[in-house]
Amino acid sequence: MDKDKVNEVDDKEYEDVCYICRRPESKAGRMLRIPQNICICVDCMQRTFDTMGGAGMSPQEFMFDPSFSMPPNLPLNEEEEGEGKKKKSGLPNIRFMNLGDFTGFGDIPQSQRVKKNKSKKKEKPVFDIKNIPAPHKIKEQLDQYVVGQEQAKKVMSVAVYNHYKRITRKEEQKVELEKSNMLMLGPTGCGKTYLVKTLARLLDVPLAITDATSLTEAGYIGDDIESVVSKLLAAADNDVKRAEHGIIFVDEIDKIAKKKNTNQRDVSGESVQQGMLKLLEGAEVEVPVGASSKNAMVPMVTINTKDILFICGGAFPDMENVIKERLNKASSMGFLADLKDKYDNDKNLLQKVTVEDVRNFGMIPEFIGRLPVLFALEALDEDMMVRILKEPKNAIIAQYQELLAMDAVKLTFTDEALHEIARKAMDKKVGARALRAVIEEYMLDIMYETPKDDNIGEVVITKEYLDHTGGPIIKMRDFSSNLLTDTKAAAGDDV
Ligand code: ADP
Repeated sequence: MDKDKVNEVDDKEYEDVCYICRRPESKAGRMLRIPQNICICVDCMQRTFDTMGGAGMSPQEFMFDPSFSMPPNLPLNEEEEGEGKKKKSGLPNIRFMNLGDFTGFGDIPQSQRVKKNKSKKKEKPVFDIKNIPAPHKIKEQLDQYVVGQEQAKKVMSVAVYNHYKRITRKEEQKVELEKSNMLMLGPTGCGKTYLVKTLARLLDVPLAITDATSLTEAGYIGDDIESVVSKLLAAADNDVKRAEHGIIFVDEIDKIAKKKNTNQRDVSGESVQQGMLKLLEGAEVEVPVGASSKNAMVPMVTINTKDILFICGGAFPDMENVIKERLNKASSMGFLADLKDKYDNDKNLLQKVTVEDVRNFGMIPEFIGRLPVLFALEALDEDMMVRILKEPKNAIIAQYQELLAMDAVKLTFTDEALHEIARKAMDKKVGARALRAVIEEYMLDIMYETPKDDNIGEVVITKEYLDHTGGPIIKMRDFSSNLLTDTKAAAGDDV
């Protein structure tokens, strides 16, 4: 008896598993428990009933048909007999097979069962989308995480503010507000994805990030366009209402530009743009639950995309040339003619982008029309890289400092060293993404060596250490002696 109790407690920690399809509770949803501790998921139960319906009998008929009662030659156990006698018709009659026969080979051993996820305490979102704060408040929050990109943060704050105001307003108003879907341009690693991720986290709305490169026209190899919505549904934990207020970020949108000089069917370019039109505008789409492709076995739900905010982003390489061409054309005639190379050294030429340029790049007008908010992010320069290293709430430097602080070691960087890291990262030409790789390279030795010696109280990373012409400054814990060690000493075995 005691042992039974222990098992029962254990059982509560594990997920129930469907007896028929073998999916656990977290995948299959609610389970129906039938005698002998057998669980069946709602889908399998429905399918079973459907099959019975196909055989010309409704579940109700089946349950209440006396001809399906238990055959007389099968013995009833005492308890059932008592019940059977009391209730003359109804559910008890379906027990024409003894479920007890199944126990044993249907049981799943504890070692193969999945433990239930402990429900996490939900953090309070910074913003409430039902009562969206003014754009300057949204930007203030973004400022804490994203360095620079002032114009982009401003545009996004206003667009998000308008979008959520539009979807929470009462239906009675006469003027129909259009969606504020966005199209953002910016070189790789300048923070496009990061901006969207931060925004979604602050608003506590589900976010789906997809690559436009993997999308193809329906029927061809690749993901269907509607799969982006099913990703969003998964991000919203299959909650349709939450998904309908979410954000979809389609990255690498420039890769689906119309191909020039081609007379073949462009299944991954122009056709994808055309396929996205109805999603961007707002349509009811049927998407599979818990899978990325439709098939007979997955349940489907309908999602309306009219309140989903779409943000498309891309690096748009060569866009500078398109813009330059337009600007040069406009100023190449008459007395006001400019020099031809006037714009050659303009770093932020991308900021001058217009709808016309995007169309010349190969996006179809209908597509651009559905992304009314168009803006570009700035290319990162050395100063911005340094700010990215130290300013954001979860700055890379702060992360290393936190790690070493756990060993009671203080970590500091000289200003020169920070600029050197930024310069090295810029050389890699992948934007802020390179910062982590560069800094990791130099921090490896520090992280390896410092825990060895309990006397080390502070490490100062210098430019010399990064240039391999010297070492970091190591300060001992008693602060009485400042030791300047060379690189080898810091990196070698004998720190
Ligand atoms: P992409 O523009 O290619 O989508 P990401 O948004 O993925 O680039 O940026 C890569 C990383 O660089 C981010 O994870 C973020 O940590 C960092 N980063 C880029 N730009 C900024 C910025 N303006 N402020 C703070 N961090 C940034």
